[in-house]
Amino acid sequence: MYSFDYVRPSTLEEAKAILASHPEARPVSGGQTLLPTLKQRLANPGLLVDLQKIPDLRGIEITSTHVCIGAMTRHAEVAANADIARAIPALAYLAGGIADPQVRHMGTMGGSLANNDPAADYPGAVMGLGAEIVTSRRTIAADDFFLGLFTTALEPGELICQIRYPRVERAGYHKFAQPASGYVVTGCFVSRDLQGQVRVAVNGAGPCVFRQSDFENALAVKFDTSAIDTCQQGSNGLNTDLHASAAYRAQLVKVAARRAVTWALAAR
Ligand SMILES: Cc1cc2nc3c(=O)[nH]c(=O)nc-3n(C[C@H](O)[C@H](O)[C@H](O)COP(=O)(O)OP(=O)(O)OC[C@H]3O[C@@H](n4cnc5c(N)ncnc54)[C@H](O)[C@@H]3O)c2cc1C
Repeated sequence: MYSFDYVRPSTLEEAKAILASHPEARPVSGGQTLLPTLKQRLANPGLLVDLQKIPDLRGIEITSTHVCIGAMTRHAEVAANADIARAIPALAYLAGGIADPQVRHMGTMGGSLANNDPAADYPGAVMGLGAEIVTSRRTIAADDFFLGLFTTALEPGELICQIRYPRVERAGYHKFAQPASGYVVTGCFVSRDLQGQVRVAVNGAGPCVFRQSDFENALAVKFDTSAIDTCQQGSNGLNTDLHASAAYRAQLVKVAARRAVTWALAAR
């Protein structure tokens, strides 16, 4: 590990000012990705800005239209929150399936989204529900946030503050998980909103979460597993690694989508 300085601001304004005046600084939330990266000397930030003591980045608010979750909310809090489970059951279910209890009690929603690991769970929910990412500078739609492998629309020094998930009529999630870590080999998050608009997000299969528009169109006509059977998922652009080939992942996308729809239909 390279040596670095460490600060723990207590307000968002303070954190923003530190990040603005120290271009070499990096925010740290739960440290579940950043600390191993530092230990392996894959990053040399010079200054770590710990976000744990900033009240503005915490909190869960449920309104008639949205579930709003502070960036510092840990996965275990999302999984255990009864109001989230009532409003968007698939979101609480997804959070409860992330990693192991130790990681769930430290890892945060904001850290996971900023990292944009292709094998992470939350990008599926954010894209699959059409959520908004509220940052220290602006509000970014899900469709504009995830740019590629470990890459987002966040600019240097820009902090994720809150994630605003619209409440929908139905939503479901299924992932094929890597057994040792829980990371997503291939997953699918589906939702249908109150106007009947369907979103289908595929995570884990490619370098970055993506929407599957053929599935969306078929499910908009008939929100049932049989709609998926009429669609094709090609393997072009999907990942091949030690866990699965691109061709196998393409097959898993359809199976995950069918199971996500089944989950959504059973949830309410
Ligand atoms: C063993 C293991 C298993 C895991 N399994 C899964 C899994 O099954 N599914 C899954 O989805 N994830 C999994 N993860 C990832 C984990 O759940 C965390 O979400 C992820 O590591 C991010 O951790 P963190 O929130 O502590 O962020 P950190 O490690 O603190 O930060 C991650 C990155 O985000 C930046 N950052 C942090 N907060 C903010 C913010 N508010 N605004 C802007 N930038 C920010 C940091 O600078 C850093 O670049 C696993 C991790 C481990 C170690």
